[in-house]
Amino acid sequence: MPELPEIETIKRTLMANQGAKIDKIKLNREDIIRRRDFPLGQLQNKSIGEIARRGKYLWLVLDRDRNIIIHLGMSGRFYQLDETSAEAAKHVHAEIYLSNGKKLVFEDPRRFGGIYLLNDPQEFLGRLGTEPLTEEFNPAYLNKITRQRKIAIKSLLLNQNLISGIGNIYADESLFRAGIRPDRAAGSLTAAEIDSLCGAIKQVLNKSIDAQGTTFRDYRNGFNQEGSFQKYLQVYGREKEQCTRCGEIIYKQTIGGRGSHFCVQCQK
Ligand SMILES: [Zn+2]
Repeated sequence: MPELPEIETIKRTLMANQGAKIDKIKLNREDIIRRRDFPLGQLQNKSIGEIARRGKYLWLVLDRDRNIIIHLGMSGRFYQLDETSAEAAKHVHAEIYLSNGKKLVFEDPRRFGGIYLLNDPQEFLGRLGTEPLTEEFNPAYLNKITRQRKIAIKSLLLNQNLISGIGNIYADESLFRAGIRPDRAAGSLTAAEIDSLCGAIKQVLNKSIDAQGTTFRDYRNGFNQEGSFQKYLQVYGREKEQCTRCGEIIYKQTIGGRGSHFCVQCQK
């Protein structure tokens, strides 16, 4: 599933479409619109004022009460093509035609994703927790949300109401870099471990954004190109391979219902 670095990369690669007007929206599946606060027709001739991201959501701001939120679910892609492009993907559910000669294509074979047409985005996005790449996400905040919690630190990192945008890949990678086992009780982390985890999260997310995100299968950036951070993963997807640091075999265990990858030597 695309996480913060992937959605941030899509946002950055689509930035040049800010200011363009919507000519028309072509829907191939009505049910891909998960919520409709206003009729689709009301978006015609509106300009894309801003392309933003919150957690794992992409947000097109048209005007104050006309917003399009895109969620890519498991297998979604959202990218630009020339309006005249005949490139035909199988599972294109929506195409947004723009005044700049481009179209934005929403494709999602497994259909866990969707499009939300919202009057009030805050009502929808307001429940999301702190963004990990902001100053508000710091050791004091991480300390506050972990104290006296018995839940596994891995599961806590995935709670979108506390921290928004981290999923399975970046939780595992951050915990490896910080030397912390994913099944440790969140409340058992020392002050030094909290510092180290906070730094590791920011570092791994930033490095992945620099590499245009992680592509295992489905994810593509806003130009429909693969990311390259999969080359730099140290534990995620590497079960039964050797640890890059100590040579121990990477172990995979289910924690809170999610497959978790770690090194028993390097992570305590
Ligand atoms: Zn190791």
